[in-house]
Amino acid sequence: MVKLKIGISSCLLGQPVRYNGGHKRNQTVIDLLLDDRFEAVPVCPEVEMGMGIPREPVQIVADHLVGVETQKDWTDVMTDFNSGKLKELTSLSGFIFKTRSPSCGIQAVHQDTSETTSGLFARAFMKHFPHIPVIDEEQLQDNQSRENFIARLRREEV
Ligand code: SF4
Repeated sequence: MVKLKIGISSCLLGQPVRYNGGHKRNQTVIDLLLDDRFEAVPVCPEVEMGMGIPREPVQIVADHLVGVETQKDWTDVMTDFNSGKLKELTSLSGFIFKTRSPSCGIQAVHQDTSETTSGLFARAFMKHFPHIPVIDEEQLQDNQSRENFIARLRREEV
């Protein structure tokens, strides 16, 4: 049986990739991946683009990804990372993102205006793959949303 590949924000799988060396293991995500039909493809954009662990946390200001304390601007590094990484993800059937992350959030927040936006990796992913279904770990807790996501998983080209 060919498995459907699902991209996952790595911290949701329990990988210690957060800025403080922690994780955000999510049991609903883990349970979903026990299903033989699916294969996890972990992605942590912040680590994979070289920010390291531990690292300064980042936030979105004026649509740039910047360090909370130093204001170091990671936007160009993230943009370069995205253009390469997205080419590796063409076989994905869906993606489960970490909620509210300035990198991975389907919905994140502009710190300067409090307006809603998307994390810079999630935004690039959704723009590059508009037909691949996405969900975040909070939406995944809702049975109906989870079933809809599973039903919409892309089954062609896999
Ligand atoms: Fe998790 Fe994404 Fe932040 Fe990495 S960048 S720690 S995967 S939310």
